[in-house]
Amino acid sequence: MPLGMDMSVDETTLLQTIFWSVGASRLALSERLDFSKSKTNSLVAALLDVGLLTETGLKASSGGRRPETVQINPSLGVLIAADLGATSLDIAILRPDLSVLARHSEAADVRAGPGLVMARVRVLMRELLAQCATKPQQVIGIGMGVPGPVDFASGQLVNPPLMPQWDSFSIRDALREDFAAPVFVDNDVNTMALGELWRLQRSLQNFLVIKVGTSIGCGIVCHGEVYRGANGSAGDVGHICVDTAGPRCHCGNLGCVEAMAAGPAITRMALEAAISGESALLAACLADTGSITPEDVGNASRHGDAAANRIIQHTGNLIGQMLASVVNFFSPSHVFIGGGITRIGPLFLASVRQSIYQRSLALSTRHLEIQYTPLAEQAGLVGAGVLAMQETLKNKGSPR
Ligand SMILES: [Zn+2]
Repeated sequence: MPLGMDMSVDETTLLQTIFWSVGASRLALSERLDFSKSKTNSLVAALLDVGLLTETGLKASSGGRRPETVQINPSLGVLIAADLGATSLDIAILRPDLSVLARHSEAADVRAGPGLVMARVRVLMRELLAQCATKPQQVIGIGMGVPGPVDFASGQLVNPPLMPQWDSFSIRDALREDFAAPVFVDNDVNTMALGELWRLQRSLQNFLVIKVGTSIGCGIVCHGEVYRGANGSAGDVGHICVDTAGPRCHCGNLGCVEAMAAGPAITRMALEAAISGESALLAACLADTGSITPEDVGNASRHGDAAANRIIQHTGNLIGQMLASVVNFFSPSHVFIGGGITRIGPLFLASVRQSIYQRSLALSTRHLEIQYTPLAEQAGLVGAGVLAMQETLKNKGSPR
């Protein structure tokens, strides 16, 4: 496998640049990397020779000129991307340019513990590979996002509040039984941030990705890279206090934004409104299905339900209150909101915006854009693919 070979730092830098630009011309590469044209040409020629790159684009029919654009050779192998949420599992087999060969999503419960969940992950990975007639030996890298704090170097979860049984569990070791390829594990909001960075082809340098689902977390992109902090726990904004007299959070403190405004809090308030008779629509939903999801609250809101509107505005305002501090501190150009909350509709986003603009400093918000992530719920999966390819390429660079 050519990716197993030793490469110079220049070669891996070039490969990474081609990966992030989803293919690039020799001229564009030389400009972007500030390499001379002859240096770029000879690096590209060497990587074409060993089969790491292929030429794409129009073959110039006139004059026999070589095609200018190169890409990572699609026949190098495949990547496996996995996005494990608190209640969902999403796995895909991708080409090196992240185009999807096979994909599967299903409900999952991380609280079932690593034994059961990882057994299912391995079965699905094998099944999806078989679907695209690919062998485990053809996998060049595996990336996985998980809903808890991860020590990035070891790939182990550290004290994950939503999945306590996973503490110190090594996903890398669990997958090593099936695959020789390197395995990279990161917190799911960090993979979402990587997914956005990829979508934007690194055109934005400083932005935040907020995930609101069962919990609340924040992926930080600083100077075009995902920022993980000294211990890998940067962006753990769910336990910022928004009401010192608020309810007790599972972390033990009072009034954390996660306890007051994430999916379970929305569901709890909706149940109260249904049972108290405050909302006929939510009561009908509860009678029909036996439960109420944040999506149901969004539907009720779209039908003009006052209680649903109040719940959405209240939780949006609380998240905006937390974000205002974060925006003042970090001064991002964009805040992208993702996770299950995106299904709740525009009123939530409007409430978050209003609260941020009210509370942030004018200088921080003058050009600030706040929107739902265009990748929606795929951001984490795309990011897990980026993680797999990016880190596999990075790890090949050795000075020589
Ligand atoms: Zn908390």
